[in-house]
Amino acid sequence: MALTKAKNSNPAPKRKIPERRCVGCQGTFPKKDLLRVVRSPEGEISIDFTGKKSGRGAYLCKKEACFRKARKSGVLHRALEVEITDALYEELEKEVRFAEAHSGD
Ligand SMILES: [Zn+2]
Repeated sequence: MALTKAKNSNPAPKRKIPERRCVGCQGTFPKKDLLRVVRSPEGEISIDFTGKKSGRGAYLCKKEACFRKARKSGVLHRALEVEITDALYEELEKEVRFAEAHSGD
């Protein structure tokens, strides 16, 4: 009995990188390059570092320019349908600055 060679039309398994749209600049980026802000079912807003929190999420670039734009235009508030506190913006800003400072080289 001859071995049947399975015809694989796509031999190299493509690892699909999950991409999400940034609410600030509307650009699409790999999920890992974005910050996820999530509104829990209880209505609590937090930054989701694991990407696994349940709730409605919005993504933002780890870029200060993009963060500022998002804060000014209130897109996070619109995307999540909840008030974004200054404390959360400050936390986000810290994360964005940290990421920016550690990217590039
Ligand atoms: Zn962006």
